[in-house]
Amino acid sequence: MLRAAIFDMDGVICDSEPLHMEAFQTVLREEGKMITDQEYYDRYLAHDDRGSFEAALGPAIDSLKMRSLLVRKGHLFDEAMKEHLVIYPGVDAFVKKLGARCALALATGARRLEVEFILKKARLRDSFTAIVSADDVQNGKPQPDAFVRALQLLNERRLDGTPAIEPAQCVVIEDSPRCIRTARGLGMKTVGMATSYKPEELKDAHWVIDTFVGVGVEDLEKLFAWRKISAEIFCRARGRPSRRAGFAAARARRPPAAGRRRTRARARLDGAGSVRLLCESDPLAL
Ligand SMILES: [Mg+2]
Repeated sequence: MLRAAIFDMDGVICDSEPLHMEAFQTVLREEGKMITDQEYYDRYLAHDDRGSFEAALGPAIDSLKMRSLLVRKGHLFDEAMKEHLVIYPGVDAFVKKLGARCALALATGARRLEVEFILKKARLRDSFTAIVSADDVQNGKPQPDAFVRALQLLNERRLDGTPAIEPAQCVVIEDSPRCIRTARGLGMKTVGMATSYKPEELKDAHWVIDTFVGVGVEDLEKLFAWRKISAEIFCRARGRPSRRAGFAAARARRPPAAGRRRTRARARLDGAGSVRLLCESDPLAL
């Protein structure tokens, strides 16, 4: 069951990745290092600013130097953001619709200052119960800390008497393939937003979209329905007693532990709403 949605910001709520890239390239150029647009998207986009500079210039940058790089990049981005920031169409309506159905959090590699500016511009400042920026976690994205912290905050602020929200009850909306894999690794559902990357590069997401226009809350809820369908199809396909199918469904509901074999029959709803059955013949899976 869908109980929470965790949004990324850059590339999901606003078209800000090109502005980040230009600011980052400018600062690196001043440091004598050139990176192409393709290199930015391949190696740096998933990181927060600190992680990007460490990835580009090596992890041994002293703290004073790092501070000056971050300030410079932040200054360039802030100036560009005031002039050129575009909020994606349909975001406002979609976030508000979804917020009426489940808890919302924002987990981003952006700085808190940027988050405040962008959410205000998108008129979404009050829509998120929890906001986790790069300033709020030890290890920035694509590490899992921001997603974990966002869920923790949602649980601290959930209604009294309601059970804790599990990772399997969350959907993460992301434009970065690495962050999609991180969220999946936590057992969360994922929607890939094909704004910074092509749809085929987001194949690890459970569902890929390129706009919120026309997307309904019920479309996200479908992502949480496939396990039950799996049990029904399994039951029919294998002709096993329903008790075994129930057991299979119970296993399928558990997030897969590292190294554990996958359950042997699964079905998914794809973006068009059709059912796709995936069978695995692993004798040790059940
Ligand atoms: Mg992003």
